[in-house]
Amino acid sequence: MPAPAQVLSFEAARHTVEEHSAQLRPRGKELAELLDSAGQVLAEVVTADRNFPPFPRATRDGYAVRAADLATLPARLHVIGEIKAGAPDVAFILKAGEAAAIMTGAPAPPSADAVVMIEYTSRNGDQVEVTKGIAAGDNIVPIGAEAKRGDRLLIPGMQLDHAAIAVAASAGKSHLLVYSKPRVAILSTGDEVVDIDVPPAPNQIRNSNSYSLAVQIQMAGGEPLLLPIAPDEPERLRELIAEGLEADLLLLTGGVSMGKYDLVEQALSELQAEFFFTGAKIQPGRPVVFGRIPDGSVHKYFFGLPGNPVSTMVTFELFARPVLEALAGLQPRKLVFLHAKLKSEIRVKPGLKRFLPAVLSGEFENAEVELVRWQGSGDIAATARANCYIVVPSDREHIATGEWVSILMS
Ligand code: AMP
Ligand code: MG
Repeated sequence: MPAPAQVLSFEAARHTVEEHSAQLRPRGKELAELLDSAGQVLAEVVTADRNFPPFPRATRDGYAVRAADLATLPARLHVIGEIKAGAPDVAFILKAGEAAAIMTGAPAPPSADAVVMIEYTSRNGDQVEVTKGIAAGDNIVPIGAEAKRGDRLLIPGMQLDHAAIAVAASAGKSHLLVYSKPRVAILSTGDEVVDIDVPPAPNQIRNSNSYSLAVQIQMAGGEPLLLPIAPDEPERLRELIAEGLEADLLLLTGGVSMGKYDLVEQALSELQAEFFFTGAKIQPGRPVVFGRIPDGSVHKYFFGLPGNPVSTMVTFELFARPVLEALAGLQPRKLVFLHAKLKSEIRVKPGLKRFLPAVLSGEFENAEVELVRWQGSGDIAATARANCYIVVPSDREHIATGEWVSILMS
């Protein structure tokens, strides 16, 4: 029995995926060297091993002073020495009327409560004249103001970017515990599809979907496993699906439309699949399928992505990515659309929410966006020229030049 058709709105389909994702956990944890952990998902809490900063830190070049000494201006202070970054922090005790030259990043002496910027001073021998008043605390970050020893700096579920790696480095971590990457099987289907090392006959097309998906999987924190191309033949298809189900997630492409040789749903049904949706009111990507198959006491999730290359790319981003990210251990994040001004008008038929390949350009505060000319959802060359998608609501037929439109970055 084929799956009963269940076509959801875009938002309902997305929420369905998010709900299932919330139940998923990563496979395990492993230790990685700090730089190798970049892009991976943190699986431990990183705490501050000392106070941040560990000493009262000057944030400007100038003079460490007692703010009360600058009550009347100009103030003339006696310079008793110089403190550079790396100096021991109790080099001086300032008495009333005294100042110490200090550099950015140096420890302020205990009795100083502010640093006056060099721009507001003039130096003459061991005297400095200050022309601007200052409040206690200015230009000094107190001990532990950024984090106290033992505070949590990084928490599990964060993707380790350059800033997070910097935090780990500053806490002395040479290794980090990260979640193991989920293995994602990719199964392209179709009698016309041939692999890239085979010269294609005139009626054949090369497999590009397995490769675009592999890259999208890597970018989302997974490890792609390319299966051989499945023909439009039930037995071999079932065999390859079974192989794919050994991975943590299975992505199929092609064979999910209504054609006579679209056998993917049938093959999945025969493996006791439970379907959550078999279509979404979007374009490209309408025939997208999401479900799971029992596997012992757990389930393996799968997506049947439409075979048109742009549909495959879009439906991965919209629906498969949250499942993959959950398996990778990432904290769930909502899909956020940005806004840009439309550079040239759009006319479409209403009824489906559209994600159309587009180019975002402009400079500074003037982001503008326009559709790439394309031949529909098979047009990979047009998509390669695009850097985002314009999101057209399903009730719109015409969007005029100059209107603000939603975009999804790709
Ligand atoms: P299907 O979803 O199977 O009806 O396929 C829709 C279109 O996508 C057809 O023109 C296919 O030739 C094309 N297509 C399917 N699979 C792939 C693939 N792996 N790589 C590139 N194009 C594909
Ligand atoms: Mg096909």
